[in-house]
Amino acid sequence: MKQSHYFNPTLRELPADAEVISHQLLLRAGYMRQNAAGIYSYLPLGKRVLRKIEDVIREELDSAGAQELLMPAIQPAELWQETGRWEVYGPELMRLKDRHDRPFALGATHEELITSLVRDELNSYKQMPVILYQIQTKYRDERRPRFGLLRGREFIMKDAYSFHSSQEQLDDAYRLMHETYSKIFTRLGLDFRPVVADSGAMGGKDTEEFMALSKVGEDTIAYSDSSDYAANIEMTEVHVQYEKSGEPEKELEKTNSVAEVGAEKIIKFSAYRSGEERIIVLVRGDHEINEVKVKHLLEVEMLEEIHELEGLNPVGVSGVKVVADNAVKSVVNGICRLDKELVYHNVNPERDIPVDTYTDIRFIKEGDPSPDGKGTIKFAEGIEVGQVFKLGTKYSEAMGANYLDENGKAQPIIMGCYGIGVSRVMASVAEQMHDDNGLLWPKTLAPFQVHLIAVNVKDEAQNKLGEELYEKLKSEKYDVLYDDRKERAGVKFKDSDLIGIPLRVVIGKKAGDGIVEVKVRKTGETFEVDASELESTLK
Ligand code: ATP
Ligand code: MG
Ligand code: MG
Ligand code: MG
Repeated sequence: MKQSHYFNPTLRELPADAEVISHQLLLRAGYMRQNAAGIYSYLPLGKRVLRKIEDVIREELDSAGAQELLMPAIQPAELWQETGRWEVYGPELMRLKDRHDRPFALGATHEELITSLVRDELNSYKQMPVILYQIQTKYRDERRPRFGLLRGREFIMKDAYSFHSSQEQLDDAYRLMHETYSKIFTRLGLDFRPVVADSGAMGGKDTEEFMALSKVGEDTIAYSDSSDYAANIEMTEVHVQYEKSGEPEKELEKTNSVAEVGAEKIIKFSAYRSGEERIIVLVRGDHEINEVKVKHLLEVEMLEEIHELEGLNPVGVSGVKVVADNAVKSVVNGICRLDKELVYHNVNPERDIPVDTYTDIRFIKEGDPSPDGKGTIKFAEGIEVGQVFKLGTKYSEAMGANYLDENGKAQPIIMGCYGIGVSRVMASVAEQMHDDNGLLWPKTLAPFQVHLIAVNVKDEAQNKLGEELYEKLKSEKYDVLYDDRKERAGVKFKDSDLIGIPLRVVIGKKAGDGIVEVKVRKTGETFEVDASELESTLK
C-alpha cells in the first residue's frame, strides 16, 4: 500500500476529550474517527487490526469445534418480551420501530435470538453438544460511553453460545472455551488474567471474566501473589440516595432528575477515591434492601456523579446514603477491598453496626492472606475483554427450547455463553503496548508487517530503490506500507512512530550504494543492511 494515497489522517495535537492513551493514539495515528458519542468509524489501518484480531479468534474457535454463523442485529421485540428482558434490560437496549409500528431492538446480545433459532432445530439429545458463534456489531446505549473503543455504544463482539443435554456436557464446553480464551488472549499478546466473576445468586464458579491488566480498567481485581486466585471485586450497581444536611432525606426515585436517567435509577458505585486511597463500599443483603450510610463526605468524583443526577450544590451535601437491592451479587466472591475504615449504619434506627458483623463478607486489605491460603492479596485494575458463563436453562425454559432425551422426554436445553469484546481488545492492546511516540503493535496484530520509508522521494536513487523494494516485498507476500509521500523526513518518522508498525525500513542517503536501515520500532534497535539481503534480515 502506498501511503501517498492511503486514507490515514494523522493528528499532531492531542484530541480533546480523549482521556486514555488508547483513545488518544488510535485517533492520532488515524486508526479511527468518532461519529457520535461511543460510535466510531474504523479507518483502513484500524480495520486491518480488527481483522487480525478476528482471525486469531476465528482460528482458535474453529479449531475448538465451534461453528460460525451470523445473526441479525435487528431483533423483534417479542423475543425479548418472552424472557422479560424487554423490560429488565432498561435503557441500555436500543429500540426502534418499523414502518408498521412494530417494535424491534438493536442486538445488545443474542441469547434470545439464538434460543429462538435453535428451539425449532435442536430437538434431540443426539444433536448436542453444539457451539455456535458470530462476530458482529452490538448496540448498547451505555450510560457513560467513554474511553474510545473501551466503552462504545456500537462495538464489535464475538459471542458464542453452547447447547447441551447434560450438565457434564456444559462443564466440558465451559472448560474448552476457557482454554480457548486463554489461547486467544495469549496470541493477541495481552497481559491478562482470568478472574472469578460475579455470578449473581447462582454462586460458585459459573462465570469467569478475562481481564487485561491496565490502570485504566474499570474493574478491580483482587489476586494472590502466589497462586491462581483472582476475583473481580467490582461492586454491584447500587441505588444511591442522599440527603442535604439539615434537611429530611430525599428519595432519588422521586426527583425529576431520576426520570431523566430513566429506568437507570442506578448509578454504579463500584469504587471511589478518597485522597489517594481507593475505597469500595460493600453492602450486604439477602435480596432485601439494606441501607448503609457513608458518613464521610465523599470526594469529588462521586459528588459529581450525584450532581449530575440531582443538580445538587456540592456544599450542601453532608453524606450519602447507599441502598443496594442486589447486594448479594456483589459479595459472591466473598471479599471486599477495604483501605479505610468506614462507618456504616443500617436501617434499624441507626444502630451502628460495625463492619465485621457482616460475617460472610471478607474485608481484605492489600497484604492480607489470600482466601485460598496461598500467598497474600494484591489489587490491580483490569479491562474486561471476555467472559465465559454457564447460563443453564434460563433462556431455554423462558422460551420453550426443549429437546427429547434418551427416554423421549422433553427437557430444556442447557446453555452456555461466551463473549469477547473484539473492538475493546484493540484498545486494550493499545493501552498495554505503546511508548511516548506512539503505538507498538505485536507482530500478530500489526496492520502491516513492514513500514518502508523513502526519506526523500525527490532523490532519484531513493525513489528508485523504494519502488523496487516495495514491489519485491509485495511479491514475497509481505504486507508493506510504503511511505512515498513528498513530506519532510521528520513528518514521516513521526507518523511512522505513531502508527507503530513493528519493522521500519528506511531508504536514505545510502540508497545509491544499495544500503538501507532497518529499525525495530519497539526496541529502537537499528542496523544497516544491503538491500539485496533485506528479505532474509526481515525474517
Ligand atoms: P462491562 O462490564 O464492561 O460493561 P459486560 O459485562 O456488560 O461488560 P458482556 O455482556 O459480558 O459485557 O459482553 C461480552 C464482552 O463484550 C465483554 O467482556 C467486553 O469485552 C465487551 N463489551 C461489553 N460492553 C462493551 C462496550 N460498551 N464497548 C466495548 N466492548 C464491550
Ligand atoms: Mg456492561
Ligand atoms: Mg462486566
Ligand atoms: Mg461481562
